[in-house]
Amino acid sequence: MNNSKKILSVLLIAVMAMGMLAGCGSKKAADDSAKDAKDTLVMATNATFPPYEYVEGDDFKGIDVEIAGEIAKKLGMKLDIQDVEFDSIIAGVQSGKYDMGMAGMTVTDERKQSVDFTDSYATGIQVIIVKKGSDIKSVDDLSEDTKIGVQQGTTGHIYASDDYGEDAVTPFNKGADAVQALLSGKIDCVIIDNEPAKAYIESNDELEIIDTEYVKEDYAICVSKDNSDLRDKINTALQELKDDGTIDKIVSKYIPAE
Ligand code: GLN
Repeated sequence: MNNSKKILSVLLIAVMAMGMLAGCGSKKAADDSAKDAKDTLVMATNATFPPYEYVEGDDFKGIDVEIAGEIAKKLGMKLDIQDVEFDSIIAGVQSGKYDMGMAGMTVTDERKQSVDFTDSYATGIQVIIVKKGSDIKSVDDLSEDTKIGVQQGTTGHIYASDDYGEDAVTPFNKGADAVQALLSGKIDCVIIDNEPAKAYIESNDELEIIDTEYVKEDYAICVSKDNSDLRDKINTALQELKDDGTIDKIVSKYIPAE
């Protein structure tokens, strides 16, 4: 070994030793943050999905926001809502950045490989929005030649790509952007969850939801596979909130019976 190599390896050992020391320090920091995290339930959502989650003024509003608030109360924790891209929620829950993801999120077998889901607290339906007078009258009118708009990473995106091929599908960051593209004639329809769909057509006369349902699905909260303790606690809280009518009350506040 020549001299410069020796110096290099001594330096390397020193750096490694420092790394180990630093490692000890950060373990303590991690312990502290675990303690903090215990007081706070960090929820990742994508607040562009009315009536489940949306922003009004400076506040988060919606069914998920209120149910999460009730769950946090039962767990004796503060709720911290992080508004992120829908597409990044599962990875963030998996890595422990967020304690849970709640975003009108559908339980799917594929997602179950990455995260655990709590019991379901709501049902969603994938529906199809078209411009009034469109040739698309039912789901049977969709084909590989239809220009279908979806929200990136959602079940609508996944199913439409599976059924009609990726070339037929245009993903948008937000459901609202897909609806805008429909209005301007860039796409022929939008596949999206029924309640946000209703909210979009309510504010637009030119649009309608066609009468056939595309897919029915269950919404649940996702948690890390390493945190079955939290999943169990949330399930207990959800059951209590179902039994005492709190969930029904929250849902009917946002979705009036027809
Ligand atoms: N329910 C759909 C899904 O889980 C859409 C959810 C959303 O856009 N927030 O993919």
